[in-house]
Amino acid sequence: VTTSSARTLEQTTLPGVKNIIAVVSGKGGVGKSTVSANLALALRESGATVGLLDADIYGPSVPIMFGVRGKRPMMRETENGKGVIVPLDRYGLKLMSIGLLVDDKNAVVWRGPMASSAIKQFITDVDWGELDYLVIDMPPGTGDIHLTIMQTVPVTGVIVVSTPQDVALADAKKGIAMFGQAQINVPIIGLVENMSWFTPAELPDNKYYIFGKEGGKKLADEYDIPFLGQIPIVQSIREGGDLGVPVMMSDEQIVKDAFLGFADTVI
Ligand code: ADP
Repeated sequence: VTTSSARTLEQTTLPGVKNIIAVVSGKGGVGKSTVSANLALALRESGATVGLLDADIYGPSVPIMFGVRGKRPMMRETENGKGVIVPLDRYGLKLMSIGLLVDDKNAVVWRGPMASSAIKQFITDVDWGELDYLVIDMPPGTGDIHLTIMQTVPVTGVIVVSTPQDVALADAKKGIAMFGQAQINVPIIGLVENMSWFTPAELPDNKYYIFGKEGGKKLADEYDIPFLGQIPIVQSIREGGDLGVPVMMSDEQIVKDAFLGFADTVI
């Protein structure tokens, strides 16, 4: 999938970045940030140089997920006198989040044109250097801000995250339609179904399909896009996210294998 020819923009923005993967969801809270973070770490584990950009202006979660809340990124001046933001380094990833630039308590109310120009500047002002992959954790939904991002950076492909639940799937459909439309026309790498089932420790052979069964898989079939796989509801995924240690850094092998599998599809 990582054909550079799939890129529609000139390589003037982020010239050192070989592949840009945008992770999207129709709805918030379905695990888009969890997938972005762990996919980035899985790509890193396969030997690639990887950056993670949290562009979710409505609820940036990378600062908490990576335990870097409150850290202020450094600025650096380039040879031609331009000030650039230096990404943080965490678990071998280059990290930047819109949440590191705004105060926790003073949540910015991001509105249309202002949000679009701020995000544009934010993306182009980060000094990513040379990267094999930049994973972008996009804001949920479909709107102007998405259009701006897709028109600012040469995105290689999109990964859609959804739970198997009908309301999430309905919104995911809008996302698939948006990214496929002529204005944007970015290839969809595939769909990840998150929170597919729950298995209690005392009943290891049971699967409870809390949000419905295989809704994401059916959606991928319906739209003829690759189905990348399923991630169950696992307590350590939530705990790791809250503690600043993503599950890829734990010993939860089944979940890690799922993310390594997604990374394989991307590479
Ligand atoms: P989004 O980016 O779509 O808003 P997040 O990745 O922030 O969603 O996930 C929302 C919450 O659900 C977080 O607390 C996260 O840790 C948790 N979560 C996500 N995926 C799973 C999963 N498979 N199992 C358990 N908890 C999960």
